[in-house]
Amino acid sequence: MGLYMRAKKKIILFLLLGLFLGGATLTTTTPVQAHRETITVTASSVNVRMGPGLAYDVMAQLKKGDKITVIAHKNSWYQVRLHSDKIGWVASWLLKNTEISATTNTKGTIIANNVVAKEHPADDSDTLGTYQQGNPVTVIYKKNGWSQILFHKTVAWIRSAYITEKKAPSTKQTQKTVDPNIKNVTVHSDNAKLRKKPGLGGKITKVLKRRTQLTYLATIGDWYQVQTDSGKTGYIANWVVTPSASNAPITTNANNLAEATIVLDPGHGGRDSGALSQKKTYEKTYTLAIAKKVAKQLRQAGARVLLTRKSDKFATLASRPALAQKVHADAMISLHLDSSPKDNEASGITTYYYGKSKDSLLGKTLNKQLTKLPIKNRGVEFGNFLVLRENKQPAVLLELGYINDKHDYRQIRSRKFQTKVADAVTTGLSHYFQ
Ligand SMILES: [Zn+2]
Repeated sequence: MGLYMRAKKKIILFLLLGLFLGGATLTTTTPVQAHRETITVTASSVNVRMGPGLAYDVMAQLKKGDKITVIAHKNSWYQVRLHSDKIGWVASWLLKNTEISATTNTKGTIIANNVVAKEHPADDSDTLGTYQQGNPVTVIYKKNGWSQILFHKTVAWIRSAYITEKKAPSTKQTQKTVDPNIKNVTVHSDNAKLRKKPGLGGKITKVLKRRTQLTYLATIGDWYQVQTDSGKTGYIANWVVTPSASNAPITTNANNLAEATIVLDPGHGGRDSGALSQKKTYEKTYTLAIAKKVAKQLRQAGARVLLTRKSDKFATLASRPALAQKVHADAMISLHLDSSPKDNEASGITTYYYGKSKDSLLGKTLNKQLTKLPIKNRGVEFGNFLVLRENKQPAVLLELGYINDKHDYRQIRSRKFQTKVADAVTTGLSHYFQ
C-alpha cells in the first residue's frame, strides 16, 4: 500500500520536473513554426517520455485516436503538448506506426506475496522492487510469460503468472479484426479455456495446457479467435496467451539511435592499467575519459548508454559482454589504445570485429567516421578478443591510436581529439541505426 502512495507522489514530482526540463530543452530543439502541427495517433498505444529518447522515463501514454500538438522536433522525437497540457516527448515514427505499439494498458492485481519486479524479463535480471498480494499494477506489455508494468516513474517486469488482470468483460461485442502481425499465440497460464464465443460467458469447449500453441485467426475485443492443431476453432482470452511474431517490446530492435541501448566499454581499469605512454600515463585513464565523452554525446542524441565501468575500477573481461547481453544492447563499443613493443614504432586507429554478420557492419560504419580523425586509419580487421567473441550483441573494439607513439599520444591526451572521437562514434552509430 505504502508503495503505491509513494509511487504516486514520485510521479507527480517527476511530472513537474518534466515540465521544467521540457522548457529547458526547448532552446536546443527546432520549434515548429506558426501553425502548430496536430497529429492523430494511429498506433494502439504510444509512450510519452520525459525527454527525447528511450532512456527517459514514461510519463503518460497515448491511445489510438488521441490528438496531440507538436511543439518541437529533436532527433526524430516530437515534443508534444498533451490535452492535459502536460509536455512530453514521443518517438515520431511510433505515432504513425501501427506495428510497434504496446498492448492496451490493463489494470492488474498481484496474487502472491514477495513478487519481485525485475529490470528485464529474466529471473536473473536486477530486482527493482517487491510486491505483495493485493498490490495494484498497470500492465503495458506482455511477452514470453512476463508482463511489463508501470513501476514508479519507469517500467519493470513481473512474471505474468503473478498478476490477475481485471479486464472488464466487454458487454457489447466489438468488431472482428485481423492483426497481420500475429501468427500464433502460445498459452502461458495453466488450464486456459477455449470458448465457443468470445467473453467469459462463452461455453468452454476445451481446456488447454500451458505452452499450447494455437493458430491466430482474428481479434474480437480482448479475445482471440484461434485454431488448435486438431482443427478446432474457438475463442481464448488475450491475457492467457502470448502472441508471437507480433509487437516488439519498446526497448529492442532500435532503428534509430534515439531508441538504442549502447554499452561503452572503457578498456582496462583499476589494477589493470593497460598500455603505457612514454610519459608513463596509462591507457585505462584515456579509455575512460573518451568513453565519458562518447556517452555524453550519445545521451544527447537520446540513446540509452551504459558503461562497463564508470571510474578507475577493475572489471573482469567476462563482465563486459555480460553487461551488453543483460541490457540487450543494440551495440557495444570497446575502447582501447594500441601499443607497439618499441616506442614510436607504429601509429594509427584500428577497428576490430569478430562476427562477420553480427559485427562487421557496425565496424565498417563506425570506421568510416573514424577516418576523419587526425590519426591515420589502419582500417577494419578481424579481432579475436574475448569482449567480441563472447558477445551476443553487435560489438566492436576500437584501438584509437598508439599510446606509445609520440604523434598519436599528443592527440589521445587532448580533449579536442577525445571530443572528435565522440562526434565520430555518434555519427557512425546514427548511420548504423538508420
Ligand atoms: Zn587495451
